[in-house]
Amino acid sequence: MSPESTDPVESFVRANEAYASKFAKGDLAMRAKTGVTVLTCGDSRVDPAHFLSLPEGEAYIFRNAGGRVTDDFLRLLFITQMLGCRRVMVIHHTDCGLNRFTNQVLHERIRGELGLDSSGTDFLPYTDLDQSVREDVARLRTSPSVRKDVRVTGHVYDVKTGRMAEVRTT
Ligand SMILES: [Zn+2]
Repeated sequence: MSPESTDPVESFVRANEAYASKFAKGDLAMRAKTGVTVLTCGDSRVDPAHFLSLPEGEAYIFRNAGGRVTDDFLRLLFITQMLGCRRVMVIHHTDCGLNRFTNQVLHERIRGELGLDSSGTDFLPYTDLDQSVREDVARLRTSPSVRKDVRVTGHVYDVKTGRMAEVRTT
């Protein structure tokens, strides 16, 4: 059977059936054990459950394009702070699409390749990886939506080595 002839979602559904048949974590609390909120990219190579070894119930994880601080992330952070979060990790990564393309290039490619209009969307692209981390950390540290006793750190994950390094932010 070639990969093209199988809907991957069908195999995901079968995988979930196997997962649920052995599931024993139904008593986990909504409040994450570590109280950490992780912000990172939705890139398929960048999964904190794996590279930070996080089982269910350990941390709050939010992924978007680039792992950038957005209003939607701040919306989650209101909730996780209520649930006791006092620690936030911002994790950007090497070879990120947002480090390759400007808004203009993205708008043109999306129009050309997908026939869709993204002109109203700011993808929050950047040219310097460490600097993008510092910007997002600074945005959280100065945000009126984030308590002053929440400690925020910034990190870069390397998709070639699997290693994460802290970015100096002060
Ligand atoms: Zn990315």
